Amino acid sequence: MIAYESLQQVNKEFMDEYTEVFQRVLHGGWYILGKEVAQFEQSFASYCGVEHCIGVASGLDALVLSLRYFGFKPGDEVIVPANTYIASILAIMQVGLKPVLVEPDVTTYNIDPEKIESAITVRTRAILVVHLYGKMCDMDPILLLAEQYDLKVVEDCAQAHGAIYKGQKAGSFGDFGAFSFYPTKNLGALGDAGAITCKDHELNKSIRTLRNYGSSAKYVFDEVGYNSRLDELQAAFLSVKLKYLDKITAHKQKLAAIYRRELKSDFILPGVQAGFEDVYHIFAIRHAERDRLKKYLLNNNIGTEIHYPIAPHQQKAMNGILSGASYPISEEIHRTVLSLPISYGHTEEDINRVIEVMNKFS
Ligand SMILES: *Cc1c(COP(=O)(O)O)cnc(C)c1O
Repeated sequence: MIAYESLQQVNKEFMDEYTEVFQRVLHGGWYILGKEVAQFEQSFASYCGVEHCIGVASGLDALVLSLRYFGFKPGDEVIVPANTYIASILAIMQVGLKPVLVEPDVTTYNIDPEKIESAITVRTRAILVVHLYGKMCDMDPILLLAEQYDLKVVEDCAQAHGAIYKGQKAGSFGDFGAFSFYPTKNLGALGDAGAITCKDHELNKSIRTLRNYGSSAKYVFDEVGYNSRLDELQAAFLSVKLKYLDKITAHKQKLAAIYRRELKSDFILPGVQAGFEDVYHIFAIRHAERDRLKKYLLNNNIGTEIHYPIAPHQQKAMNGILSGASYPISEEIHRTVLSLPISYGHTEEDINRVIEVMNKFS
């Protein structure tokens, strides 16, 4: 069986180092907001090419705290891609704002910059871009629009650690970059974890306060804050894995290149563009008979996933909130998309086997 993902396989190489840092943190006796978190924040900020990184409890929290910082009024609008993972939309709603969905481009799967302007109203305050599947959004036209209309920009980087657009890394374009280190992400912890990147000193200070109950000094509270801290233990594990992130990315890029070279043309491949370096959190192809293809692969002992089977506006949770409107491009993507194995735990032989089976699909 070629599993879609095996975290045991992915983390095998790092087990000794994980065990070592576990012992270090355990015996250190300091488990929340200590030197492990500070150290990881510094390394990850430097990796992303920004001044500041603030560790938080999850990717969702990274989005919530980023949006909360601006102090928008209830009902103010935030533009977000219609085909994102539900967390991006939940974050907007959790701070009392209104998500306004914009269709993606069918070749990049990312928000279509040309469709953003017509969604802007007098209540629009921010654009929440999502670098889906490990590919950066086309940031230049988006940043231009944000400037023209005086909008804030938050990047959902949960699937794009180290992804590059015109020489610059994800998380270094917007006011905030929001990262998830959920165990399956390219930079994954051994539990829940997240981080926010930013360039501005004031933003950094304020997020540090917000993540820790709104506390500016011990038992002094300046804001109605959250408990959203990155654990010392997770930070220590993340510091280990960060050293290998470029190696992990290179491996995934190598597997993607094999798919691109060898898969027959029946399958619609994810687009490539000059100036973009994709990190392939997910290798998403499309096929009109996606469900039959998925079943066929499973019958041949190949695991795949669908990211995602149901569009956000068609989810039960969004009844009466996002329902009613139609997003045909997003719906087409959700109907046809299939994620192929592309893990750090997969070998080139695994991928060649997937290709061999797929090329016999008819
Ligand atoms: C994983 C993910 C999140 C949420 O991250 P958590 O750490 O699970 O809270 C948000 N947005 C996108 C696009 C994601 O893939």
